[in-house]
Amino acid sequence: MNSDFIWMNGELVPYEKATVHFITPTLHYGLGVFEGIRCYQTPHGPAVFRLEDHLKRFLESIHILGIQDFAYDLQTLRAATHQVVLANHFTECYIRPLMYMEGPMGLNMDNSRPKVGIAALEWGPYLGEEAQQTGVHLMVSSFTRLHPNINMTKSKVAGNYVNSMLVKTLALRSGYDEAVILDPQGFVAECTGENIFMVRKGVLYTPPLSTVLEGLTRDSIMTLAGDLGITVKETMITRDQLYIADEVFISGTAAELVSVRAIDYRTVGEGRPGPVARALSEAFYATLHGDGRHSAEWLDYVAQDALQPAS
Ligand code: PMP
Repeated sequence: MNSDFIWMNGELVPYEKATVHFITPTLHYGLGVFEGIRCYQTPHGPAVFRLEDHLKRFLESIHILGIQDFAYDLQTLRAATHQVVLANHFTECYIRPLMYMEGPMGLNMDNSRPKVGIAALEWGPYLGEEAQQTGVHLMVSSFTRLHPNINMTKSKVAGNYVNSMLVKTLALRSGYDEAVILDPQGFVAECTGENIFMVRKGVLYTPPLSTVLEGLTRDSIMTLAGDLGITVKETMITRDQLYIADEVFISGTAAELVSVRAIDYRTVGEGRPGPVARALSEAFYATLHGDGRHSAEWLDYVAQDALQPAS
Protein backbone atom coordinates (compact mmCIF):
# COMPACT_ATOMS: atom_id res chain seq x y z
CA MET A 1 0.00 0.00 0.00
CA ASN A 2 2.43 2.69 -1.12
CA SER A 3 3.10 5.01 -3.99
CA ASP A 4 5.90 6.99 -5.63
CA PHE A 5 4.98 10.51 -4.51
CA ILE A 6 3.04 12.32 -1.82
CA TRP A 7 2.10 15.96 -2.31
CA MET A 8 3.25 17.97 0.72
CA ASN A 9 2.85 21.69 1.24
CA GLY A 10 3.01 22.61 -2.41
CA GLU A 11 5.32 19.99 -3.92
CA LEU A 12 5.49 16.33 -4.86
CA VAL A 13 7.83 14.56 -2.44
CA PRO A 14 9.19 11.00 -2.95
CA TYR A 15 7.28 8.54 -0.74
CA GLU A 16 10.23 7.78 1.60
CA LYS A 17 10.93 11.47 2.14
CA ALA A 18 7.36 12.41 3.05
CA THR A 19 8.06 12.53 6.80
CA VAL A 20 6.97 14.68 9.75
CA HIS A 21 9.05 15.42 12.88
CA PHE A 22 8.42 13.49 16.15
CA ILE A 23 7.59 16.77 17.91
CA THR A 24 4.33 17.58 16.20
CA PRO A 25 1.18 18.31 18.23
CA THR A 26 -0.80 16.14 15.81
CA LEU A 27 1.14 13.02 16.77
CA HIS A 28 0.95 13.76 20.50
CA TYR A 29 -2.64 14.99 20.83
CA GLY A 30 -4.50 13.91 17.68
CA LEU A 31 -5.21 17.44 16.45
CA GLY A 32 -5.19 16.78 12.73
CA VAL A 33 -7.90 16.61 10.09
CA PHE A 34 -8.16 14.13 7.25
CA GLU A 35 -10.32 13.10 4.33
CA GLY A 36 -10.88 9.83 2.50
CA ILE A 37 -11.58 10.13 -1.22
CA ARG A 38 -11.64 7.63 -4.09
CA CYS A 39 -10.62 7.87 -7.71
CA TYR A 40 -12.21 5.44 -10.19
CA GLN A 41 -11.42 4.25 -13.66
CA THR A 42 -13.93 5.44 -16.28
CA PRO A 43 -14.02 5.33 -20.10
CA HIS A 44 -12.75 8.94 -20.01
CA GLY A 45 -9.80 8.23 -17.72
CA PRO A 46 -9.47 8.38 -13.93
CA ALA A 47 -12.11 10.45 -12.14
CA VAL A 48 -12.32 11.47 -8.50
CA PHE A 49 -15.73 11.01 -6.89
CA ARG A 50 -17.17 14.24 -5.43
CA LEU A 51 -13.69 15.76 -5.03
CA GLU A 52 -14.86 19.33 -4.42
CA ASP A 53 -17.40 18.14 -1.82
CA HIS A 54 -14.69 16.19 0.02
CA LEU A 55 -12.31 19.15 -0.05
CA LYS A 56 -15.09 21.43 1.15
CA ARG A 57 -15.66 19.09 4.10
CA PHE A 58 -11.89 19.07 4.69
CA LEU A 59 -11.78 22.89 4.87
CA GLU A 60 -14.89 22.90 7.05
CA SER A 61 -13.30 20.37 9.41
CA ILE A 62 -10.31 22.71 9.77
CA HIS A 63 -12.64 25.68 10.29
CA ILE A 64 -14.63 23.82 12.97
CA LEU A 65 -11.43 23.24 14.95
CA GLY A 66 -10.74 26.96 14.84
CA ILE A 67 -7.42 26.57 13.05
CA GLN A 68 -6.25 29.89 11.70
CA ASP A 69 -3.98 30.63 8.76
CA PHE A 70 -4.54 27.45 6.77
CA ALA A 71 -2.82 28.51 3.57
CA TYR A 72 -4.53 26.37 0.90
CA ASP A 73 -7.85 26.99 -0.80
CA LEU A 74 -10.12 24.44 -2.42
CA GLN A 75 -8.86 24.90 -5.98
CA THR A 76 -5.20 24.55 -4.92
CA LEU A 77 -6.03 21.32 -3.08
CA ARG A 78 -8.03 20.10 -6.07
CA ALA A 79 -5.12 20.71 -8.46
CA ALA A 80 -2.78 19.00 -5.98
CA THR A 81 -5.07 15.96 -5.86
CA HIS A 82 -5.02 15.70 -9.66
CA GLN A 83 -1.22 15.98 -9.59
CA VAL A 84 -0.74 13.24 -7.03
CA VAL A 85 -3.01 10.82 -8.92
CA LEU A 86 -1.16 11.48 -12.19
CA ALA A 87 2.34 11.44 -10.69
CA ASN A 88 1.69 7.95 -9.33
CA HIS A 89 0.16 6.74 -12.63
CA PHE A 90 -2.97 5.52 -10.87
CA THR A 91 -6.21 4.76 -12.66
CA GLU A 92 -8.00 3.80 -9.41
CA CYS A 93 -6.82 4.80 -5.94
CA TYR A 94 -7.70 6.01 -2.48
CA ILE A 95 -6.74 9.61 -1.72
CA ARG A 96 -5.83 10.77 1.77
CA PRO A 97 -5.42 14.50 2.51
CA LEU A 98 -4.16 15.25 6.03
CA MET A 99 -3.83 18.60 7.78
CA TYR A 100 -1.24 18.35 10.53
CA MET A 101 0.26 20.85 12.93
CA GLU A 102 3.92 21.78 13.00
CA GLY A 103 5.20 23.43 16.16
CA PRO A 104 6.34 22.91 19.74
CA MET A 105 4.83 20.56 22.31
CA GLY A 106 1.88 22.03 24.15
CA LEU A 107 -1.86 22.38 23.91
CA ASN A 108 -2.18 25.90 22.55
CA MET A 109 -2.87 25.36 18.87
CA ASP A 110 -1.97 28.98 18.14
CA ASN A 111 1.69 28.10 18.76
CA SER A 112 1.66 25.71 15.79
CA ARG A 113 1.24 26.16 12.06
CA PRO A 114 -1.14 24.05 9.96
CA LYS A 115 0.50 22.00 7.19
CA VAL A 116 -0.98 19.63 4.64
CA GLY A 117 -0.17 16.52 2.67
CA ILE A 118 -2.13 14.50 0.11
CA ALA A 119 -1.29 10.84 -0.46
CA ALA A 120 -2.72 8.56 -3.15
CA LEU A 121 -2.57 4.84 -2.41
CA GLU A 122 -3.86 1.59 -3.82
CA TRP A 123 -6.46 0.42 -1.32
CA GLY A 124 -9.20 -2.13 -2.07
CA PRO A 125 -12.67 -2.09 -0.48
CA TYR A 126 -12.26 -1.52 3.29
CA LEU A 127 -14.35 -4.55 4.27
CA GLY A 128 -13.03 -6.78 1.47
CA GLU A 129 -14.35 -7.87 -1.93
CA GLU A 130 -16.28 -10.81 -0.46
CA ALA A 131 -18.17 -8.61 2.01
CA GLN A 132 -19.60 -6.67 -0.91
CA GLN A 133 -21.19 -9.88 -2.23
CA THR A 134 -22.24 -11.63 0.99
CA GLY A 135 -22.71 -8.86 3.54
CA VAL A 136 -21.08 -8.38 6.94
CA HIS A 137 -21.78 -9.31 10.55
CA LEU A 138 -22.03 -6.23 12.79
CA MET A 139 -21.63 -6.00 16.52
CA VAL A 140 -23.36 -3.25 18.51
CA SER A 141 -20.35 -1.74 20.19
CA SER A 142 -20.07 -1.33 23.96
CA PHE A 143 -18.25 1.96 23.27
CA THR A 144 -20.36 5.11 22.80
CA ARG A 145 -19.96 7.43 19.80
CA LEU A 146 -18.65 10.90 20.50
CA HIS A 147 -20.93 13.54 21.97
CA PRO A 148 -20.82 16.70 19.79
CA ASN A 149 -19.54 18.71 22.76
CA ILE A 150 -16.60 16.36 23.35
CA ASN A 151 -14.97 16.18 19.95
CA MET A 152 -17.09 17.65 17.25
CA THR A 153 -18.52 15.03 14.94
CA LYS A 154 -18.89 17.16 11.79
CA SER A 155 -15.14 17.48 11.64
CA LYS A 156 -12.99 14.56 10.52
CA VAL A 157 -10.55 15.12 13.37
CA ALA A 158 -7.79 12.52 13.57
CA GLY A 159 -8.36 12.13 17.33
CA ASN A 160 -12.01 11.11 16.77
CA TYR A 161 -10.68 7.93 15.25
CA VAL A 162 -9.28 6.63 18.54
CA ASN A 163 -12.93 5.80 19.26
CA SER A 164 -13.23 4.14 15.83
CA MET A 165 -10.03 2.13 16.36
CA LEU A 166 -11.17 0.87 19.78
CA VAL A 167 -14.52 -0.15 18.32
CA LYS A 168 -13.13 -1.73 15.15
CA THR A 169 -10.38 -3.71 16.85
CA LEU A 170 -12.72 -5.12 19.50
CA ALA A 171 -15.24 -6.08 16.80
CA LEU A 172 -12.59 -7.93 14.78
CA ARG A 173 -11.09 -9.64 17.84
CA SER A 174 -14.61 -10.76 18.78
CA GLY A 175 -15.15 -12.36 15.38
CA TYR A 176 -17.36 -9.67 13.79
CA ASP A 177 -16.55 -7.73 10.62
CA GLU A 178 -17.49 -4.24 11.80
CA ALA A 179 -19.50 -2.53 14.55
CA VAL A 180 -22.31 -0.05 14.80
CA ILE A 181 -21.89 2.55 17.53
CA LEU A 182 -24.72 4.11 19.56
CA ASP A 183 -24.82 7.81 20.38
CA PRO A 184 -24.70 9.09 23.98
CA GLN A 185 -28.52 8.78 24.18
CA GLY A 186 -28.43 5.17 23.04
CA PHE A 187 -29.67 5.66 19.47
CA VAL A 188 -27.89 4.21 16.44
CA ALA A 189 -25.23 6.63 15.18
CA GLU A 190 -22.78 5.19 12.65
CA CYS A 191 -20.04 2.61 12.16
CA THR A 192 -16.29 3.13 12.54
CA GLY A 193 -16.00 4.72 9.11
CA GLU A 194 -19.45 4.35 7.57
CA ASN A 195 -22.98 5.70 7.86
CA ILE A 196 -25.83 3.23 8.29
CA PHE A 197 -29.22 2.70 6.60
CA MET A 198 -32.13 0.33 7.22
CA VAL A 199 -35.10 -0.64 5.06
CA ARG A 200 -38.48 -1.48 6.55
CA LYS A 201 -41.64 -1.97 4.47
CA GLY A 202 -40.02 -0.36 1.44
CA VAL A 203 -38.95 2.86 3.23
CA LEU A 204 -35.27 3.72 3.65
CA TYR A 205 -34.28 5.12 7.06
CA THR A 206 -31.01 6.63 8.27
CA PRO A 207 -30.09 8.48 11.48
CA PRO A 208 -30.17 12.30 11.30
CA LEU A 209 -26.93 14.26 11.09
CA SER A 210 -26.93 15.33 14.77
CA THR A 211 -24.14 13.02 15.95
CA VAL A 212 -22.76 11.49 12.75
CA LEU A 213 -20.37 12.52 10.04
CA GLU A 214 -22.12 14.01 7.02
CA GLY A 215 -21.08 11.21 4.69
CA LEU A 216 -20.88 11.94 1.00
CA THR A 217 -21.73 8.35 0.17
CA ARG A 218 -24.77 8.71 2.47
CA ASP A 219 -25.80 11.83 0.57
CA SER A 220 -25.25 10.15 -2.81
CA ILE A 221 -27.29 7.11 -1.77
CA MET A 222 -30.15 9.31 -0.59
CA THR A 223 -30.17 11.06 -3.98
CA LEU A 224 -30.06 7.76 -5.88
CA ALA A 225 -32.89 6.40 -3.71
CA GLY A 226 -34.96 9.44 -4.70
CA ASP A 227 -34.23 8.69 -8.37
CA LEU A 228 -35.47 5.13 -7.85
CA GLY A 229 -38.69 6.34 -6.22
CA ILE A 230 -37.71 5.06 -2.75
CA THR A 231 -38.94 7.17 0.20
CA VAL A 232 -36.04 8.22 2.48
CA LYS A 233 -36.54 9.31 6.08
CA GLU A 234 -33.95 10.64 8.53
CA THR A 235 -34.99 9.42 11.95
CA MET A 236 -33.66 8.18 15.28
CA ILE A 237 -33.16 4.41 15.12
CA THR A 238 -32.76 1.91 17.97
CA ARG A 239 -30.66 -1.24 17.93
CA ASP A 240 -33.75 -3.48 18.02
CA GLN A 241 -35.19 -1.68 15.00
CA LEU A 242 -32.05 -2.78 13.16
CA TYR A 243 -32.55 -6.39 14.32
CA ILE A 244 -36.04 -6.53 12.72
CA ALA A 245 -35.29 -4.46 9.60
CA ASP A 246 -35.87 -6.01 6.18
CA GLU A 247 -32.43 -4.79 5.12
CA VAL A 248 -29.50 -2.95 6.70
CA PHE A 249 -26.52 -1.60 4.82
CA ILE A 250 -23.61 0.71 5.51
CA SER A 251 -21.93 3.30 3.30
CA GLY A 252 -18.62 5.11 3.13
CA THR A 253 -15.89 6.07 0.71
CA ALA A 254 -13.53 3.31 1.85
CA ALA A 255 -16.17 0.58 2.25
CA GLU A 256 -18.51 1.79 -0.56
CA LEU A 257 -21.96 0.16 -0.11
CA VAL A 258 -21.99 -3.04 1.96
CA SER A 259 -25.00 -5.01 3.17
CA VAL A 260 -25.31 -6.28 6.72
CA ARG A 261 -26.25 -9.95 6.94
CA ALA A 262 -26.43 -10.15 10.76
CA ILE A 263 -26.19 -7.98 13.84
CA ASP A 264 -25.27 -9.47 17.24
CA TYR A 265 -26.01 -12.98 15.90
CA ARG A 266 -29.53 -11.98 14.72
CA THR A 267 -29.98 -12.52 10.99
CA VAL A 268 -31.11 -9.36 9.23
CA GLY A 269 -33.86 -9.97 6.66
CA GLU A 270 -32.83 -12.81 4.36
CA GLY A 271 -29.25 -12.71 5.62
CA ARG A 272 -27.89 -11.48 2.29
CA PRO A 273 -28.00 -8.27 0.22
CA GLY A 274 -31.67 -7.38 -0.28
CA PRO A 275 -33.45 -5.82 -3.28
CA VAL A 276 -33.12 -2.18 -2.14
CA ALA A 277 -29.41 -2.51 -1.38
CA ARG A 278 -28.85 -4.28 -4.71
CA ALA A 279 -30.69 -1.62 -6.72
CA LEU A 280 -28.85 1.20 -4.95
CA SER A 281 -25.53 -0.58 -5.29
CA GLU A 282 -26.03 -0.98 -9.03
CA ALA A 283 -26.92 2.72 -9.46
CA PHE A 284 -23.99 3.74 -7.23
CA TYR A 285 -21.34 1.66 -9.05
CA ALA A 286 -22.60 2.85 -12.44
CA THR A 287 -22.23 6.43 -11.19
CA LEU A 288 -18.70 5.84 -9.89
CA HIS A 289 -17.57 4.39 -13.20
CA GLY A 290 -18.96 7.15 -15.39
CA ASP A 291 -22.19 5.47 -16.44
CA GLY A 292 -24.83 6.91 -14.10
CA ARG A 293 -27.32 9.72 -14.17
CA HIS A 294 -25.19 11.82 -11.77
CA SER A 295 -21.75 10.88 -13.14
CA ALA A 296 -21.23 14.20 -14.94
CA GLU A 297 -22.14 16.11 -11.79
CA TRP A 298 -20.18 14.01 -9.29
CA LEU A 299 -17.06 12.86 -11.15
CA ASP A 300 -14.05 15.13 -11.37
CA TYR A 301 -11.98 13.82 -14.28
CA VAL A 302 -8.26 14.03 -13.60
CA ALA A 303 -6.75 16.65 -15.91
CA GLN A 304 -4.10 14.85 -17.95
CA ASP A 305 -1.98 18.02 -18.07
CA ALA A 306 -2.07 18.50 -14.28
CA LEU A 307 1.69 17.97 -14.03
CA GLN A 308 2.57 20.65 -16.60
CA PRO A 309 3.69 23.95 -15.13
CA ALA A 310 0.97 26.62 -15.48
CA SER A 311 1.69 28.93 -18.43
N1 PMP B 1 -18.84 8.12 9.37
C1 PMP B 1 -17.54 8.13 9.72
C2 PMP B 1 -17.18 8.13 11.16
C3 PMP B 1 -16.54 8.13 8.74
O1 PMP B 1 -15.25 8.13 9.09
C4 PMP B 1 -16.91 8.07 7.37
C5 PMP B 1 -15.84 8.03 6.32
N2 PMP B 1 -15.44 9.31 5.93
C6 PMP B 1 -18.27 8.06 7.05
C7 PMP B 1 -19.20 8.09 8.08
C8 PMP B 1 -18.73 8.03 5.62
O2 PMP B 1 -18.41 9.25 4.97
P1 PMP B 1 -18.14 9.28 3.41
O3 PMP B 1 -19.27 8.60 2.75
O4 PMP B 1 -18.08 10.74 3.07
O5 PMP B 1 -16.85 8.58 3.18
